[in-house]
Amino acid sequence: MALACSCPESGCAFVGSPAMLLNHLANSHQRPAVTVRYGLSSNLGFSLSHPWHALVGEDDRSVFLVSLGPLGAATAVSLVYVRPDGEAEVAPRFWCKLSVGPPGIDMVLMASPVSSSMLARRTRAVAGDVLGGAPGDALR
Ligand SMILES: [Zn+2]
Repeated sequence: MALACSCPESGCAFVGSPAMLLNHLANSHQRPAVTVRYGLSSNLGFSLSHPWHALVGEDDRSVFLVSLGPLGAATAVSLVYVRPDGEAEVAPRFWCKLSVGPPGIDMVLMASPVSSSMLARRTRAVAGDVLGGAPGDALR
């Protein structure tokens, strides 16, 4: 069975495997995924001008999306694992700790299993909300 993911960019009709999606994001949208290492925290800075940012796990090339969206005067931040269509839904395989704050000051926002999403046509924001300020986040 083909494992296919949809592109999170609104209006984009791309569907392909997670590896193809990574290439597509880099080549078609100039939005290459940021590589993260499991078990280590990463300090990442994301622009609020884009509603999503792609991450890829260094070990297994799993694809994650960080979604940013307005929540009143604040910004909602969420992280989902991009589960290919066709991959059986299993208990969450990933766990993350998200913290947001100005450089040097970490405020833990959520520590939870990472939800998976098939990104059926549209990026779904899930779990974990919160806060204003410049998002940066730590992924474990
Ligand atoms: Zn696309």
